[in-house]
Amino acid sequence: MAKMRSVQVPRPNGDFELVERDIPGPRAGTVRIKVQACGICHSDSLTKEGTWPGLEYPRVPGHEVAGIIDAVGDGVRGWTSGQRVGVGWHGGHCGFCDSCRRGNFVQCQTAAQVPGITYDGGYADYMIAPAEALALIPDDLSAVEAGPLMCAGITTFNSLRHSGAGPGDLVAVLGVGGLGHLGVQFAAKMGFNTVAIARGADKGPLARQLGARHYIDSALQDPAAELTRLGGAKVILATATSGKAFAAAVGGLALGGKLIILGVAEPFEVQPLQLLGGRRSIAGWPSGSSIDSQDTLRFSALTGVRSMNEVFPLERAAEAYARMMSGKARFRVVLTTGQ
Ligand SMILES: [Zn+2]
Ligand SMILES: [Zn+2]
Repeated sequence: MAKMRSVQVPRPNGDFELVERDIPGPRAGTVRIKVQACGICHSDSLTKEGTWPGLEYPRVPGHEVAGIIDAVGDGVRGWTSGQRVGVGWHGGHCGFCDSCRRGNFVQCQTAAQVPGITYDGGYADYMIAPAEALALIPDDLSAVEAGPLMCAGITTFNSLRHSGAGPGDLVAVLGVGGLGHLGVQFAAKMGFNTVAIARGADKGPLARQLGARHYIDSALQDPAAELTRLGGAKVILATATSGKAFAAAVGGLALGGKLIILGVAEPFEVQPLQLLGGRRSIAGWPSGSSIDSQDTLRFSALTGVRSMNEVFPLERAAEAYARMMSGKARFRVVLTTGQ
């Protein structure tokens, strides 16, 4: 039987292991993907550290996958071998629960699937994915470009397009990192009056290069006061992990404005009065389903939005993961298989 390389986590907090496995065949309703690239997401720490309830080991992480369909299982319609596809956090759903019947596939109540968590993901030469989890990759996006768009990209793109902000509205992106550097680009390309907020002067020029019209250095300036001076933000996209930074920005929301939380951050305090009179709100946004990923890829191909990536070969996954966790990567880390 033909073999492939996989990078697995053997047990919670165990070291990554590069192992050889049989190349699996696709079951009914699934396809086999020849993986070309897989982004490393901070959420991969759920698998590495064992903080996802019920996770079974060994497990191959990875939910920012880009590759080529290489075999198609029984009963799959609409997909064929040779198509370039991506798989993100939405890794499959049941199709019959109340959530699915309302079109909320990511929130499937009976069988919400996530590659790298509920089944083996993209830190490998091949993976199996349900057909409903696939997103078509446009010709003019490379696999390395498509990978990070499958989680970091869709999360910022999809939350912004459903945020209620319209062309010309003031939209702030809090944090210029893995998520934020994509958020700034998407906000600018969607026609928002885009503000980037980060600590330190050094990220200002980069933020402007990514499309921000304004930059607030939260180490020197009061973000709420600065946003208010600019007219108040219709939306603040909170991509950082500092709860304090979120709390410091809430006061800069416009009437009816919304702070949208995209990442797992520490708890923070808000004065009810800050929300009451101005009808301001705080909300969360997870990512989206496979068609939302496909929209993200298409929009990125159309407008030139790209993540800045540090690329490592699959066999250096442990080093690449450590680089991501260090917070020093600029800005996404991507594994490639050489296929
Ligand atoms: Zn992710
Ligand atoms: Zn369901």
